[in-house]
Amino acid sequence: QSGPRVVLTARGLGKDFAGFKAVNNVDLDVRHAQIHALIGPNGAGKTTVFNLLTKFLQPTRGRIELLGTDITRTKPDKVARMGLVRSFQISAVFPHLTVLENVRVALQRPGGLSTQFWRPLSSLDRLNGRADQLIDDLGLSEYRDARAADLSYGRKRVLEIATTLALEPQVLLLDEPMAGMGQEDVRMVAGIIRDVAQDRAVLMVEHNLNVVADICDHVTVLQRGEIIASGDYARVSADPRVRTAYMGN
Ligand code: ADP
Repeated sequence: QSGPRVVLTARGLGKDFAGFKAVNNVDLDVRHAQIHALIGPNGAGKTTVFNLLTKFLQPTRGRIELLGTDITRTKPDKVARMGLVRSFQISAVFPHLTVLENVRVALQRPGGLSTQFWRPLSSLDRLNGRADQLIDDLGLSEYRDARAADLSYGRKRVLEIATTLALEPQVLLLDEPMAGMGQEDVRMVAGIIRDVAQDRAVLMVEHNLNVVADICDHVTVLQRGEIIASGDYARVSADPRVRTAYMGN
């Protein structure tokens, strides 16, 4: 159990829908500064696991810990404020606003940076400073005054991630962040996710196995609600059960 510290843990996690075990006996250890992929064929239970971790769904079985605190019974908004945030959960990108305006709006949401400061002037300075920093970090400086609607699809997703980071999550959940993207955007977004994961944990559902192989430190493979393999990409991709699952048995 060496390696970077575990920030999100699931033990024996399970969810039944009318007696059907959509997720069963799932153990996860998501670590700081790592990218952890959740993969598996359609219907494997990936979305349900995300919904359980963010507390959109109440688990039937098992236990979830975030930063050492039991969140099994905690409400979704509280979990988000505690540092576990899913990309689309709060990241409404307003198409008619610029990149900078979108980031500033995100920073002013409850739980965002500005609500933590009561002195208006220093608050405004900090808000602007943080907005600039986020825009720089995510490679959006060139587009800072562009309307969100005019960004490429890939950069819109990056802006979405930027608005999510306004909540300063310790654990960021990304739901198919590369879906529908061309090669160039995939490469760009992969690089951004790598950067973002330098000081927080990322858990992502991703279908593009080349991306998973390239950027993920740990891969958990689900099939019919259960984990069939877990480890680095080389290890899980060599697993006969994973090969069978992906050939569609
Ligand atoms: P994935 O995201 O890996 O494609 P899901 O988590 O969406 O898989 O679904 C896992 C299984 O649970 C599927 O068989 C799906 O039909 C079932 N399922 C998901 N949500 C519900 C629900 N609300 N009610 C009943 N069955 C569900």
